[in-house]
Amino acid sequence: AMVATRASDERGTAQKVDVAVVGAGFAGLYLLHRLRKAGFSAVGLDEAGDVGGTWYWNRYPGARCDIQTIDYSYTFDPELETAWTWSEKYATQPEILRYLGFIADRYDLRRDIRFKTKVTEARWDEASERWLITTDNGAPVSCRHYIMATGCLSAPKPPEIDGVKDFKGEVYFTGRWPHDGVDLTGKRVAVIGTGSSAIQSIPLIAEQAAHLTVFQRTPNFALPAHNGPAPADRMSLLQSDRAAYREQARQSMAGVPYPQQTVVSWQLSDAERRERFERAWAAGDLVHILTQLWADQAVDLDGNKIVQDLIREKIRAAVKDPETAAALMPDDHPFGAKRPCLDTNYYATYNRPNVTLVNLRKEPIKAITASGISTNGRSFDVDVIVFATGFDAMTGAIRAVHPITGRGGKSLSDVWAQGPQTYLGLTVEGFPNFFMITGPGSPSVLSNMAVSIEQHADWVVDRLAALRDAGFTTMEPTETAQAGWNRHMADCSMLTLHRLANTWYTGANVPGKVQGLMPYTGGVGPYRSICDEVVSRGMLGFKLT
Ligand code: FAD
Repeated sequence: AMVATRASDERGTAQKVDVAVVGAGFAGLYLLHRLRKAGFSAVGLDEAGDVGGTWYWNRYPGARCDIQTIDYSYTFDPELETAWTWSEKYATQPEILRYLGFIADRYDLRRDIRFKTKVTEARWDEASERWLITTDNGAPVSCRHYIMATGCLSAPKPPEIDGVKDFKGEVYFTGRWPHDGVDLTGKRVAVIGTGSSAIQSIPLIAEQAAHLTVFQRTPNFALPAHNGPAPADRMSLLQSDRAAYREQARQSMAGVPYPQQTVVSWQLSDAERRERFERAWAAGDLVHILTQLWADQAVDLDGNKIVQDLIREKIRAAVKDPETAAALMPDDHPFGAKRPCLDTNYYATYNRPNVTLVNLRKEPIKAITASGISTNGRSFDVDVIVFATGFDAMTGAIRAVHPITGRGGKSLSDVWAQGPQTYLGLTVEGFPNFFMITGPGSPSVLSNMAVSIEQHADWVVDRLAALRDAGFTTMEPTETAQAGWNRHMADCSMLTLHRLANTWYTGANVPGKVQGLMPYTGGVGPYRSICDEVVSRGMLGFKLT
């Protein structure tokens, strides 16, 4: 059958477009809009049944963004900005999904998207200088350019525990939550994992369940969200000069318009530090606490430890049982080196009589059985297991398309055998006309993704238009440029504390995954300048043919 499909592709039954965009989330939608305006024919392909990406799949209770929604929005169309008003500081998943549906309608994007269509393979054809994209549903696609807008947190990690199949109760994954919701009333529920999705869902699950048992391997730092209306100070900054506010975000370190902090911890007294910390804690804003306390918190262990201690003090105060409080306190990574979480009642939930925390550091899970979960020492009978075990981040969805075959029959998984190799996190040597949005090697998950996505989509579409207008058909980075970028990535990573933590940023959460810090740590604004400079210096590091 494979051979027959191939033969028919070559006979020309493929859908022919200028550009194929895989993914119809934040990135894919904006790409389709920009490509159409630039005069390209394009098709979007998504495994999902509709637009939304992250916000289509993650329907677990409590799912929200944790970058303030006024910042986690598209900024490319000033009229769009006034046509949509967010109801909360941190919008819920249903509201963000409605927003992305509104975008799809407003720019009439759905007519170019093939839903329920998974891309399984991609092959560069040297003779025609086109990609051939194979799908599991309908015609393959023949395109000049192949853009993966497949998401950084879109490939859920399979459970690593034996016996899941034996379990007789219900099993759910936060990243694939049923569209009709799940009624947990009166049930005995286990949640495995204490990352962002768990921290958001645990308080709501605890309110429904007869009993909730949380299985924790690594505690995370979580800060109160203080959700509600968008804060007046941020709103007035935005409304007083929208264009300047957006521009400041684009030039900032994390994609949110906060000034660069220059004061270092040892220039402040204890009282001043505590005052800054309390203000940040009350602000309920990750980017605020990550960037506005003192400049050395992200680069120096001493400056960082002060923040860690202050947060641990908050956890101790919030959780009544001292043993549970101790188990919830992170002690194996610098604050910010692993993605911190925003919580609404998370720590307080452990004061409920129907909630138990199991510390897997002390008693690891042995197996999942027909009736529940057994650790070294205890067994817990449950009706429902919720896996909040995270994602094969940044490279998972890219590598799941297999093989991606570039020039000379080279496969991306071979080129990336020792970890992702890219130029600017956007392109790969040997893979002409192939682009990744927020790929490994770009700021990506260390930023407000809305800002990073727009920057990448703009850069790619502008390059494709310039290439076409100059009469070229292909672009591809040189080996030297790619090696240089990897060197620069490594240099930048030495300046932050990210390298000191085993996290999904480094691939440590996926057994067997090559370890290495995947996002670019140099910051959103500096990264944008580099991408712009590559262009202004005549496409430095690229071969055009
Ligand atoms: P996605 O939204 O992940 O979309 C990718 C799409 O590609 C998916 O629909 C998927 O089905 C499709 N796809 C993948 N592979 C294939 C294939 N082979 N064939 C066909 N289709 C495929 N970021 C922030 O900046 N702020 C936040 O507050 C924030 N909150 C988050 C909360 C959660 C619960 C999660 C999981 C992530 C959050 N993120 C947040 C990160 C979020 O992923 C990005 O902000 C953004 O939504 C990514 O958009 P995207 O279009 O790049 O990818």
